[in-house]
Amino acid sequence: MSYSSPTEIYDVVVVGAGPIGLATAIGLRKRGVENLLVVDQTRAFRQVGQILDLLPNGLKALKYLDLTTYEEVKKTGIGFSNPKQSNNQKTTGQKPPKTSSQWVSKNLQGEQIQSIPLGYDDWFKDYGEGRVSIPWYDLQTTLRNLLPQDTVKANHRCINVVAEPESGCVRIDCVSDRAIEANPYAYWADGQKQNDTQPQNLDSAPQQLETKSIRAKLIVAADGINSTVRRVVYTDTEYGAFARPEYSGFAAIACREMAHIPNELLTELEDKFLQDSSILTITNDEISLDSACMEEPRMILFRRASGQLGYILHLALPLHWLQEKSGNSLVDLAMQELEKGGFPNVLKQFVRISPPGNMQQRPYYIHRVTISDSIQFPSTSERNSKGHPVTIQPAWSAGRVVLVGDAAHGMPPFMAQGANQGFEDALLIATLIANIAQENNWDDMQAIAKAFEKYECLRRPLMEYVQQVTLKQISYSSDKQRREYNQKMYCRNFE
Ligand SMILES: Cc1cc2nc3c(=O)[nH]c(=O)nc-3n(C[C@H](O)[C@H](O)[C@H](O)COP(=O)(O)OP(=O)(O)OC[C@H]3O[C@@H](n4cnc5c(N)ncnc54)[C@H](O)[C@@H]3O)c2cc1C
Repeated sequence: MSYSSPTEIYDVVVVGAGPIGLATAIGLRKRGVENLLVVDQTRAFRQVGQILDLLPNGLKALKYLDLTTYEEVKKTGIGFSNPKQSNNQKTTGQKPPKTSSQWVSKNLQGEQIQSIPLGYDDWFKDYGEGRVSIPWYDLQTTLRNLLPQDTVKANHRCINVVAEPESGCVRIDCVSDRAIEANPYAYWADGQKQNDTQPQNLDSAPQQLETKSIRAKLIVAADGINSTVRRVVYTDTEYGAFARPEYSGFAAIACREMAHIPNELLTELEDKFLQDSSILTITNDEISLDSACMEEPRMILFRRASGQLGYILHLALPLHWLQEKSGNSLVDLAMQELEKGGFPNVLKQFVRISPPGNMQQRPYYIHRVTISDSIQFPSTSERNSKGHPVTIQPAWSAGRVVLVGDAAHGMPPFMAQGANQGFEDALLIATLIANIAQENNWDDMQAIAKAFEKYECLRRPLMEYVQQVTLKQISYSSDKQRREYNQKMYCRNFE
């Protein structure tokens, strides 16, 4: 292993070239902070990740972050009512089947209980901003292309963070290697892609490893839900218990592509459930709209661009039930949950014939922004003088390091808010850091602490609300609750 210690001190180093790290870097450059670097652990940027919905709050944040970025992201996004070609369609030349521009929810009897428009214009009409869908990799590529090439470095896995107060900076140590440790929390654990998803043992890797030390006045940790920076910064502090993400209690079992569905079954599925939908949620609406509802399985049924069907099941499961399950054992687990949830035969038969090789599972993790759960965290079960349970709010900054995006508040994707909330972080933190730069407060630890406190004060209450709503899956609750949520989430402006 060789070490290098360049003397250069960047103003800001962003750890993680995901959507939030890149957006933060773009926002900083736009505001005059150009001495910056973004590092990412991936050996080379490659097609990974899922499709994200960018909603009015996230798009508004991007617009104020940088107008060009907002326009480029919208251009790359796939609009459902006016579908653009996805990369896949471009190569196959296949046209998507004609489908409705609504995301419909149905009950187990096939009756419609809700419908949400998918088109940009429908959302724009209601909230002053639209909605676009975009694959994670396309979003990353679009944002990356808006930064100078040498600002974003792949093959830099941050393994350590060390404060160097005597030099007025913080140091990160990055390993560059050819065996990339995957993030088991961020992508699908897919039995067929062992090499992409299994952590690699660096000690046994044959190639030369290089550890580089990089120094910066500030570090923005945007390294996702399994953040290394968070882990290092929280270790041996009062937040030690929150260094790693916590299992949310929910998981997904999915079959991305079904094959050979018998005609009779397909006709029944189409007639009763799919009809002209491209995407549909099926759930039991007989359960009251309270906490019990969260435990009910939800099936998202979708049509791929090729016309083939796939599904995702969202299930409340103990984590150990998923351990080492793949292929047929995942199909069996899905069947068991559908049986318990009273799903009709047509849906059970459909899941039963899932090709085992196409099965995937993903446990959903969370970094709770406020922890008051006295059962899970017995040390917090004390009460304060007013008799309220004591809550813990793991800090999002420590000295010259600040956490953003999933590293601060990653959560399950049920309300499609992860990246959208992250863009709100990026806008605020870029603005606050640019103020530090303008006032030349790089050496004023009080000014830095004040800026980071402001970031938390403004962002934490909303994140607390978003996480509560996500875990209750309010999108399936009453019209009134949904309207309140939509108002609170999408009608804000960021000027
Ligand atoms: C199935 C699914 C569907 C989702 N749907 C939506 C949706 O519709 N809308 C929405 O807003 N959000 C959605 N999300 C959430 C969204 O994907 C995340 O919130 C978002 O990607 C977070 O961005 P990030 O940049 O903070 O982290 P990430 O996207 O996880 O990026 C982190 C980056 O850091 C890098 N990295 C990690 N560790 C290190 C290290 N040690 N050193 C250097 N680099 C490192 C990684 O390689 C990666 O590039 C969904 C998530 C899932 C799982």
